[in-house]
Amino acid sequence: MAGRSKTGARKRPTREQGLFGEEYERNSRLLPLLGEQKDIRYYSKFAGSVLNGPETTGMGFWSINPYVGCAFGCAYCYARYTHRYVMERASDEDRMENALTERYETMPPWLAFERNIFVKQNAPDILARTLRQGSDKHLSLLKGDAIVIGTATDPYQPAERRFRVTRRILEVLAEHPGLKVVIISKSPLITRDIDVLSRINRHSDLSVHISLITLNRELARKIEPRSPTPEARVRALARLCEAGIDAGINCMPVLPGITDNPSDLEALVKRVAEAGATYVGACALRLRSTAKQRYLPFIAQEFPHLEERYRNTYAYDSNAGKKYREGLSRFVHQLCRKYRIADWARVDDTDDEGDGALSAEHSVPSEQLLLPFPA
Ligand code: SF4
Repeated sequence: MAGRSKTGARKRPTREQGLFGEEYERNSRLLPLLGEQKDIRYYSKFAGSVLNGPETTGMGFWSINPYVGCAFGCAYCYARYTHRYVMERASDEDRMENALTERYETMPPWLAFERNIFVKQNAPDILARTLRQGSDKHLSLLKGDAIVIGTATDPYQPAERRFRVTRRILEVLAEHPGLKVVIISKSPLITRDIDVLSRINRHSDLSVHISLITLNRELARKIEPRSPTPEARVRALARLCEAGIDAGINCMPVLPGITDNPSDLEALVKRVAEAGATYVGACALRLRSTAKQRYLPFIAQEFPHLEERYRNTYAYDSNAGKKYREGLSRFVHQLCRKYRIADWARVDDTDDEGDGALSAEHSVPSEQLLLPFPA
């Protein structure tokens, strides 16, 4: 196994001199640099497979992620660990050019996730081969299993404007009627592809989930620094709905003490209902260890008055307290009924009794359901 440098990065293994010389051999292995955009570098990454099955992801659906890493840089992002695996593997295989090696050795992994984006340029070809008529995967998808695009990184992040991998994936899916396709994104760039989406929509079950946790532009900029503005997302939602595409809002995660103000949540549900959203889904922040490493320092810096409460609430559990989650679920349900929109508020019951829970929410009026989570 490769050793590690002082920063924890693995050292490159030594290799034997090849037929054409070590330098030639090494250069032919390197991940190709596709381009740079300000402080972001894009690398091509060959994808062996692209459709991840429920058994690999632990989720009840198939997933596709055209990119590894995401430039939107949300403070709460839970997907950063996937990027670390790719970086470690590239280092172990001696496939990093010098600049990438330097970034690997000096940049904290949470930042590397935002600044080194891997592009699966061959993903559409792999998908086309995987979904050939009558293949096992094609048949299982025809039975109603959903394909979700964008579970770990945003498929319409800035890279997509140039590399168009998501669009080409959609073009492949448009060739296969009878599928169930879900796309999750924060970006209005998705409206560029309304033509392909409409083709899918004619023969398959398609829905688009626009992620939106607040209408407050300044707050969004703080929490999701490089993401499109809330207004731009609502406009994209409206355009999708006008095009006859089923679209709703993922208000996820709701950040306790930050985006759970009842009047703000109500304004959000009202606004997206007016824009034509068919549903709102909401769930409270889950904070697993890798997300914690980024999120808690962020809270300490931007919301110091909440730091201790966050540390206590998420000390032994990745969920906010169960009563808090139940209160949120009920509140969103009421809002959705009020604005005549379907809701998909989720209480995850997998664990805990939640010592960070809200209390006595059954006895308070609806506008007070979301009490601040206790210290
Ligand atoms: S858009 Fe999604 S994947 Fe990208 S940083 Fe934000 S939460 Fe992570």
